[in-house]
Amino acid sequence: MSGSVPVSADVVIVGGAVIGSSIAYHLARDPAFSGRIVVVEKDPTYAKAASALSAASIRQQFSTAVNIRISLYGINFLRHLGEHLTVDGEVPVIDLHEGGYLYLASGSGPADAGAVTLHDNHAIQTREGADIALFDRAGLAAQFAWLHVDDLACGSWGRTGEGWFDGWALMQAFRRKARSLGVTYVTDEVVDVVRQGRKVVSVVLKSGEVIACGTLVNAAGANGRKVAALAGIDIPVVPKKRFVYTFHCKEALAGVPLLIDPSGAWCRPEGRPDASGQLFIGSIAPAEGEPDPEMDGNDFSVDPHLFEDQLWPLLAHRIPAFEQIRPGRAWAGPYDMNLFDHNAILGPVGDIDNLLLANGFSGHGLQQSPAVGRALAEWVIHGHYRTLDVSDLGFDRIAKQRPVLEKCII
Ligand SMILES: Cc1cc2nc3c(=O)[nH]c(=O)nc-3n(C[C@H](O)[C@H](O)[C@H](O)COP(=O)(O)OP(=O)(O)OC[C@H]3O[C@@H](n4cnc5c(N)ncnc54)[C@H](O)[C@@H]3O)c2cc1C
Repeated sequence: MSGSVPVSADVVIVGGAVIGSSIAYHLARDPAFSGRIVVVEKDPTYAKAASALSAASIRQQFSTAVNIRISLYGINFLRHLGEHLTVDGEVPVIDLHEGGYLYLASGSGPADAGAVTLHDNHAIQTREGADIALFDRAGLAAQFAWLHVDDLACGSWGRTGEGWFDGWALMQAFRRKARSLGVTYVTDEVVDVVRQGRKVVSVVLKSGEVIACGTLVNAAGANGRKVAALAGIDIPVVPKKRFVYTFHCKEALAGVPLLIDPSGAWCRPEGRPDASGQLFIGSIAPAEGEPDPEMDGNDFSVDPHLFEDQLWPLLAHRIPAFEQIRPGRAWAGPYDMNLFDHNAILGPVGDIDNLLLANGFSGHGLQQSPAVGRALAEWVIHGHYRTLDVSDLGFDRIAKQRPVLEKCII
């Protein structure tokens, strides 16, 4: 509970992790907005927040223009983070490393299905301005000496603009900057949303406090469906449990990007290599048709068999040096999965005039946080998107049954 809860705010944001804090920051920095912003965050340790449990990587290799544009803005923002989020001379450090993503397609040549998809995606990505290179099998072998290529048709690699960073540090930097610009963070839980007809009028907190609000923003991550339901809206967002495993490879491998194997297994280096080798992280999501139950919000236990039985053999097949690894710690976290089309649901809701959604990021919310924060701030202030139009990702696509079909989902 918080001691001093404001009785009203122009904007109340539910959830103060990376998305809620980015929206708060982008609103507070805009000279066109002078209203009061309150972020309600139930757990300021962020122990269960996806933002703190993320693999924190950014890619341009999406298949839809809107997602590529969001990430192009995202990488630019991360590269120049100090210009945006410095507080009292302290420049945030997020250790951005542009090591690239390497998407691999199996098969023997360009006519194989995976290769055709990579070529199609590459055409969209380069048209949008992303710096992605395509390699055939020989090209892969020449560029990535540690890679087993015999069963690969081709691969696409982000020369620049893709990589990984410290996601926790990004979230904290947004939060710190937002607070420095006057945003109030209240430690409490939103347990009810009061509506009068088409308008949200207030939120009720677990402590019993009530905050009247001009605009309500749902940035509650894996809890987003529950918060939307409080306002009488159903969104198809459910928490899915995902694991991240760490392992140490004794052999020093130069230039390993974030590698996505055709099997769905992925890995990337973590931190800097030293004389004894390199730490990696990696995982694999359930394949289509395999069980993928909803995550119980209190069960953060890790599947003890997934690494040994699936992930390690698949990765060792792709990078033979991984035969010699030492498994390390592992953790679980919730994907805020949008079951409709695995993409974010952003902006206004048809039936309610002053509710905005920023939900359903389906595993790519951390990299989307800069563009989403800017977009939703624009919507609050101007009633439309001004810079990057993200209306393709609006709520009404669900009612109209018009999915944004993104082929590059991890
Ligand atoms: C294992 C894993 C790997 C990932 N890897 C990547 C990656 O490589 N790249 C990438 O871009 N993304 C990745 N993601 C996804 C990314 O982390 C999320 O999409 C992003 O962090 C979502 O941020 P958020 O602020 O919406 O949600 P969260 O970080 O989940 O935060 C939601 C916040 O809302 C608060 N809250 C919820 N309900 C209430 C309420 N009623 N009242 C008050 N507060 C409330 C919670 O306490 C929480 O702090 C990964 C996620 C996981 C789990």
